[in-house]
Amino acid sequence: MSLEQFKLAQKYADLQQQYLDRHTQVIDQGVTPLVQRHGKTLINFSSNDYLGLVSHQAITAATVDYLKQHGIGAGAAHLVTGHHTIHEQLEQRLAQITGYPKAMLFSTGYMANMGVIDALMGNLSDSKDGIIYQDRLNHASLLDGGRLSCAKLRRYPHLDINQLNAWLNQDSSAQKLIVTDQIFSMDGTEAPLHDLIKTAEQHQAALMIDDAHGFGLRTQPLPKVDIYMGTLGKAIGTFGAFVAGSELLINYLKSRARTFVYTTATPPLIAAATLAALDVIAKEPWRQLKLQQHIGRLRSALMGQGWQLLPSQSAIQPIIVGNAEDTLALSAKLLEQGILVSAIRPPTVPRGTSRLRITLSAAHTDEHISQLISALARVCHQLA
Ligand SMILES: *Cc1c(COP(=O)(O)O)cnc(C)c1O
Repeated sequence: MSLEQFKLAQKYADLQQQYLDRHTQVIDQGVTPLVQRHGKTLINFSSNDYLGLVSHQAITAATVDYLKQHGIGAGAAHLVTGHHTIHEQLEQRLAQITGYPKAMLFSTGYMANMGVIDALMGNLSDSKDGIIYQDRLNHASLLDGGRLSCAKLRRYPHLDINQLNAWLNQDSSAQKLIVTDQIFSMDGTEAPLHDLIKTAEQHQAALMIDDAHGFGLRTQPLPKVDIYMGTLGKAIGTFGAFVAGSELLINYLKSRARTFVYTTATPPLIAAATLAALDVIAKEPWRQLKLQQHIGRLRSALMGQGWQLLPSQSAIQPIIVGNAEDTLALSAKLLEQGILVSAIRPPTVPRGTSRLRITLSAAHTDEHISQLISALARVCHQLA
């Protein structure tokens, strides 16, 4: 046996030299707003728990009730004996909330994206038979779904609908699928959905959106697309993902999405937790409003301090720093002040655009936001 052939020592040394090696950091306790790490309490500005539901009492109680009655595991894949009543209820609820005829659960968003794209585009006899158009900044799971299929991949510059239209005009492929993050995970920017729908209609292309960072946060429903993907591990605070669309689409995917067919169903207690979380969101609309307030306040404060922000109206508010080393140094300086903001580096983001990715939550108090703003003012001062 030998791993030598993969030259890991050399490759890993290269990563370290470029400040691109990564490490899991142990969290002793907590998610949002506070975590304990290495015995120190930090305000967490790096979770996707946008509504502060991860440790909500009503959700925990509903989950514990379900757990006591039914135990933990699903026991099998959905198509075998793993699809329980609570899964079915959740699928119906998700279809109703998003306004689509039908929805289906996937164990993770990563698997949903790979499964859907592969099921639609994976059976081609020639790569010219299908083309997938993806925004250059799409999430890795969408790109991997494209790689898994046999279709040709075209990546248009971020939000560049003109380039997308130009390609659609010139391509003669039978199957065309446009795929985009709705809110881009590392930028917080939003895809121009109305324009994309118009484009897809003009060129008889299908449109799929990944709303991982929007589902649960919207006060207005999005216009309908062919394929809607939402995740449950972010604003909803639980785990998993779903795809919504027409009855035919979902029926087909249940038979053909390999990442659905060949994997164990999510523990039903997670479905119970998710249903409880959806109830909380409906009953506590202040959470979405509080988050909006924090976003507005942070943006205007940071613009005043002169940081390079992105045109994001979402809970994701990155500060572009540039190189990986400086970004890590800034993150470390914030940490000294009790503020946890992760440094995002290539390959997660393009080279030269390393950033501090701040995410806000309804669980943050006004005081937490004030502390973030003054900590950033201090490190800004130190830099200058
Ligand atoms: C997080 C994320 C996913 C993956 O979802 P998981 O449920 O965490 O696997 C997919 N797409 C986007 C845009 C994401 O941000």
